[in-house]
Amino acid sequence: HLDRIAAVDGRVHAFLHVDHEGALASARAVDEALDAGQAPASPLAGVPLALKDVFTTRDMPTTCGSKMLEGWVPPYDATVTRRLREAGVVILGKTNMDEFAMGSSTENSAYGPTRNPWDLDRIPGGSGGGSSAALAAFEAPLAIGTDTGGSIRQPGAVTGTVGAKPTYGGVSRYGLVAFSSSLDQGGPCGRTVLDTALLHEVIAGYDPLDSTSIDAPVPPVVAAAREGAAGDLAGVRVGVVREFAGEGYQPGVLAAFHAAVEQLRALGAEVVEVSCPNFTYALPAYYLIAPSECSSNLARFDAMRYGLRVGDDGSRSAEEVMALTREAGFGPEVKRRIMIGTYALSSGYYDAYYGQAQKVRTLISRDFAAAFERVDVLVSPTTPTTAFRIGERADDPMAMYLSDLCTIPSNLAGNASMSVPCGLAEEDGLPVGLQIMAPAMQDHRMYRVAAAYE
Ligand code: GLN
Repeated sequence: HLDRIAAVDGRVHAFLHVDHEGALASARAVDEALDAGQAPASPLAGVPLALKDVFTTRDMPTTCGSKMLEGWVPPYDATVTRRLREAGVVILGKTNMDEFAMGSSTENSAYGPTRNPWDLDRIPGGSGGGSSAALAAFEAPLAIGTDTGGSIRQPGAVTGTVGAKPTYGGVSRYGLVAFSSSLDQGGPCGRTVLDTALLHEVIAGYDPLDSTSIDAPVPPVVAAAREGAAGDLAGVRVGVVREFAGEGYQPGVLAAFHAAVEQLRALGAEVVEVSCPNFTYALPAYYLIAPSECSSNLARFDAMRYGLRVGDDGSRSAEEVMALTREAGFGPEVKRRIMIGTYALSSGYYDAYYGQAQKVRTLISRDFAAAFERVDVLVSPTTPTTAFRIGERADDPMAMYLSDLCTIPSNLAGNASMSVPCGLAEEDGLPVGLQIMAPAMQDHRMYRVAAAYE
């Protein structure tokens, strides 16, 4: 994989940092343990992985795709990083992303865009475009992403790979640099459903260092993926979300989606249409809640604690240095979100915007609850279009935000959700994703359906 990275990453730019020596050393350690007769630390011992550059790593820089953190090497490992190491997974390096995970194309990285291996003129999705592109370009067989509003699933969809957003609280956020804390969730990415499930079980589980971590057994996703692989969905009820398959969707995406639904039916699933009327308001609610939390979380980049410091020549006050640093260190999308969020949280506006968005969030959770009384999983296209061209939506934030139309409801409700490849769109030959959504802590349901479909 290191050779493959050396051969193709100049064109794809999936990685921000490749840890050649570290990767070889940890691979060697796995070999030595096996040679000494020890049992492998996990089913994934010795398997290489690409880690999104939003998880802290003791021995590698963690930039979050931002100039603000250029060259910053954290003093500690994220829980996800630690669990990977303990499982013997070989971390190849850190992958490119939209700055602080804000974006849907990886064009917001301060270090230049990642390109989609299917067509180098197109985006690999975002914010975790680097992780998904690394999989699609065969630079790594496994990757880790984070999904606040779709950043694992949408890149998975447009690169023809698998990505799962576990139930909120299922994977520890300790050491995951915060964007929107009530939505952020780390998760596994792979090229097959079973690979993704194996990685899911390595990183998931209770962590006392994360106050929102769920103290309950990890959903049995590997067993579910194996069960699903037999291809029998008899007795499984699948709901097609009516609100997510009409106007504004690319015809080839809809055609691939409808073919997938037919296949689920052919595998024995009972398919019904389900209405979730409030899902229509998920996008506007998200774009108040996520920027609000972002404006608060990113206050920590104050020029004193981490990374960049500009203008500290003894002649300026701390406030001036802070302002100069934040001006130079943050890109335009991050600034836009900090401003929107600060506005939405201001006294006099709080109830009208943030408070209202939180109410919508509750209505969305109720739509899910009502739907899951009738069906086991919900399905939709993962994203309304295939990969767009680099630059095409760069100056149009609203067009960019529409990429997350279908993925956001699961984040707002804290449910599990994943994307699996579902063929190519007829008009452009690019990959389409099938989104499968499950109730909280029922992650195994979506893996079973995904493995049967795959
Ligand atoms: N694209 C969405 C955003 O820009 C989602 C990001 C994410 O999931 N990290 O906020």
